[in-house]
Amino acid sequence: MRILVVEDEHLIANSIKKGLGQERYAVDVCYTGTDGYDLAVTEDYDLIILDLMLPGMDGLTICQKLRKKNIHIPILMLTAKGQIQDKVQGLDAGADDYLTKPFAFEELLARIRALTRRPKDSLDSILEVGDLKLDTKSFEAKRKNKIIMLSSKEFSFLEYLMRNANKILTKNQIIAHVWDYDADILTNTVEVYIKNLRRKIDKPFINSKPLIQTVRGFGYKLG
Ligand code: CA
Repeated sequence: MRILVVEDEHLIANSIKKGLGQERYAVDVCYTGTDGYDLAVTEDYDLIILDLMLPGMDGLTICQKLRKKNIHIPILMLTAKGQIQDKVQGLDAGADDYLTKPFAFEELLARIRALTRRPKDSLDSILEVGDLKLDTKSFEAKRKNKIIMLSSKEFSFLEYLMRNANKILTKNQIIAHVWDYDADILTNTVEVYIKNLRRKIDKPFINSKPLIQTVRGFGYKLG
């Protein structure tokens, strides 16, 4: 899951990046509205955390411009304390939710989970594909009730595959959603992760159908 944070207060922006990084999100940060808008239209994000007051271009304008361009990435707007009018305007401009600064990090995480949850995901944040289960809150992966140990990146990788189960994903799509902008990732890194995930989630379960499939010439599919 890859998130864009547009916030001109460096301290807030960097602490969000650090905190979300620990929660297995790939995070890009920018400090001006114009950079934020440019990244939002060129890169592939799962969510944007957007401050309202920004140099260059304000949050409302960014929101309106993205929606006008038919870009429907969930947007969580950050507003200053007590500015009810800002919240109303934010939602009118196409934001999906807002959070008042200062906020508790736990609340930010809860909002992110709510905004990135697909309708068929269960409320308790567990993703399921066949007999494979992934708890995105406790970071636990299980197949046939056997716990699978995953590294932090393997977990994010598998989460992305599970959220897009039964869809063919190209290596570039996977890179765009699992790693942040600064990460220097080659497509064969994806192959290495696929190999490791197969070793952990498919190989030990010889009586189950392998879940990770290679679609030759295109990419991979889970399911
Ligand atoms: Ca600001």
